[in-house]
Amino acid sequence: AAEPAQAPVTVALLAQGGAAWPQVPGLPDASYAHDGQITKAPARAITLAALAPRRGERLWDIGGGSGSVAVEWCLAGGTAISVEQHARRTANIRANAARFGLQKTLHVVHGLAPDALQGLPPPQAVFVGGGFDAALFAVLREHMPAGCRLVVNAVTLETQALLVQLQGECGGQLLKLEISSAVPLGRMRSWETARPLMQWSWQP
Ligand code: SAH
Repeated sequence: AAEPAQAPVTVALLAQGGAAWPQVPGLPDASYAHDGQITKAPARAITLAALAPRRGERLWDIGGGSGSVAVEWCLAGGTAISVEQHARRTANIRANAARFGLQKTLHVVHGLAPDALQGLPPPQAVFVGGGFDAALFAVLREHMPAGCRLVVNAVTLETQALLVQLQGECGGQLLKLEISSAVPLGRMRSWETARPLMQWSWQP
């Protein structure tokens, strides 16, 4: 009989004393090795919902950071290629892949998109967490097969302006996330709001 696709994950779980990872995305940020450049758990859950992973599908995770989006895509039964320009972050992505038992399904490319995308096997979904611009979009349009999902997250005004423009021209869905967490303020508490995040989801 073929080995179950989830076997490596199970091994990792047992190594942690049997505490199973939840089966839905949005794991705590502390589950990951990261340097602060990580899509925070609530936004990550919404991002994975937009990416809509199916078993066996391949994700291009462009601007991988910690690799948290690619990890949660792979936990849903897919494979991923994380492209990250920053050497120390590629080490974090590898460490996180190992932590979740995903060394065989999560591949890391150290390089700059769009150049680093040359020669990669085609994706069923593309996530851009960093480095999005008109030139990258032009290259992605060449590489994305019909039906491929694109999800782009942007925090800068410049990239958000581009997403507003592209949705006007190409369609798709725009979402703006403004998420606040309660934090201590002296003896009381207050809302700390993360930077507003714009998310564009589109299919060619
Ligand atoms: N989704 C990630 C966080 C992404 S932060 C996570 O959950 O961990 C954005 C990342 O994009 C940074 O690590 C930055 O180094 C990377 N980046 C920006 N432009 C890039 C480019 N052109 N090619 C590759 N990586 C890029």
